[in-house]
Amino acid sequence: MKYDVVIIGGGLGGLECGYMLAKKGLSVCIVEKNARTGGCLQNFTRNGHIFDTGFHYVGGLAEGQPLNKIFSALGLLDLPWKQLDTDCFDEVIFNGERYRFANGYDNFTETLLHDCEKNGHTINAKAQSGLKEYANLLKEIGETTFDRLNKKSLEHLAAESYFSKPIYQYLKETIYNELLIGILGGTSLKMELEEKTLPLYTFSQINSSFVQSAWRLRGGGEQIATTLAAKIEGMGGKVLTRLEVTRIVEKDGKAEAVEIGAGEYIEGKAFISNLHPALTLSLINRENSSIKNIFRRRICNLENTFGMFTVNLALKAGRVPYLNRNIFINKNTDTVWNKNGERENFENRSLMVSFQVPENEAVHTDNIDILMPMYWNEVSKWEGTKLFRRGEEYEDFKAKTAEICIRRVEEYLPDLKGTIEGTFTSTPLTYRDYTGTINGSAYGIRKDYSRAMLTVLSPTTPLQNLFLTGQNLNLHGILGVSMTALMTSAIVEGSF
Ligand SMILES: Cc1cc2nc3c(=O)[nH]c(=O)nc-3n(C[C@H](O)[C@H](O)[C@H](O)COP(=O)(O)OP(=O)(O)OC[C@H]3O[C@@H](n4cnc5c(N)ncnc54)[C@H](O)[C@@H]3O)c2cc1C
Repeated sequence: MKYDVVIIGGGLGGLECGYMLAKKGLSVCIVEKNARTGGCLQNFTRNGHIFDTGFHYVGGLAEGQPLNKIFSALGLLDLPWKQLDTDCFDEVIFNGERYRFANGYDNFTETLLHDCEKNGHTINAKAQSGLKEYANLLKEIGETTFDRLNKKSLEHLAAESYFSKPIYQYLKETIYNELLIGILGGTSLKMELEEKTLPLYTFSQINSSFVQSAWRLRGGGEQIATTLAAKIEGMGGKVLTRLEVTRIVEKDGKAEAVEIGAGEYIEGKAFISNLHPALTLSLINRENSSIKNIFRRRICNLENTFGMFTVNLALKAGRVPYLNRNIFINKNTDTVWNKNGERENFENRSLMVSFQVPENEAVHTDNIDILMPMYWNEVSKWEGTKLFRRGEEYEDFKAKTAEICIRRVEEYLPDLKGTIEGTFTSTPLTYRDYTGTINGSAYGIRKDYSRAMLTVLSPTTPLQNLFLTGQNLNLHGILGVSMTALMTSAIVEGSF
């Protein structure tokens, strides 16, 4: 059978495109290499505890907000979402001082200013009005999310001033206060706070969505994937797992089929790749290809964001209170922004602590996840090894790193001491091997305001009927991937 659309990769981006195109009446086949769909949304179970991998919370899911509109169209609003505390969805800690991120643009500003005062810091009138101006920017970017999407062109997005401005410089020129700029970056694990590259748009669109509203999903992020996959199959689509695409077959400037090993092929009229674009290109033969080497080099030379070290803790029942907010632990406000490429050591690097929503509104949680940025060169000496067979030295490295993270979290969560029943860890190598992401990067291609036209990618490719989707193109995260899926689907639909 020849499908209308063959989708390579069953991560969020691939599944969302599959749903939207199946809904339009096109025959869709998704090919996923893993046993389960979801990519970064996958859950895993250890000792009877269900853990999340690359999903902890989303923003903008309340009525009228951007993700609500998209998830409503995808039939995902009925999942057991749990809104985080509106007066503190993220708590940011700097050397013991606590700052609350609250929902609502005015509330957000007032709460931060209140906490600065409480921690003994005087914020002058100029900085206060700068903070309000920043909140207005978040509001404007949040409210115009769909205006950007409606243009259906990422090139236009790259060209707009929000993308080609540096956020760090904007904050400096608007707020004039290093403490506030540090605090605003305190939830930095949502993105890389690279002073020299991070576009104003990336920082503001992501922060705007969380200031609107913040949500966890009881039972884990994989439900998003399984719900979408079931709906796609319900509309007659195919979702094939445990099948790795090993080649995209090109003929006369078009993709013709994907090879799924041992000379087996799936044919299609159009193809969407949910993979990292460099990985997508590696699936296309160089000889007689319409894809020129210059294009390959451009894509393959783009840098990727950091990866993540995650510590998943299985806890004794009924011991650790569930906190309906995330905690971000940072050393101090000077070091959250990466100003000169220096990496903090593990004792000082920023950490995120996420609590799994308990069943039946119980007051204690059974699982806690700790996340810490980790760079490829910190694990690259094991890059030639395979999952579960990386050797003693690697296991030792993971155990010691986990110990540091746990000790640092225990300073702020003393209830954790003596309650850990199981500790499970992953590194960028784990992500590389499960999702195929280059160097285990958590958020894909690093966006660079000074090279916006090069680092924001279009869903179209030099192959007429091969399209791209996923976190590498525009914005990462659940909202970013969903926005891009809308764009990719509209372009693919228009190609029929
Ligand atoms: C640790 C971590 C925490 C995160 N936390 C959050 C969060 O709290 N909130 C948020 O909004 N975002 C979060 N993110 C980001 C978010 O998870 C990602 O942006 C998003 O899930 C990426 O989706 P994707 O579809 O682009 O790619 P992926 O999820 O990487 O999907 C790609 C899919 O392609 C498959 N594949 C690869 N190669 C092949 C092949 N050759 N053949 C077939 N299939 C193949 C992979 O197995 C995978 O299923 C987090 C990410 C990480 C790593």
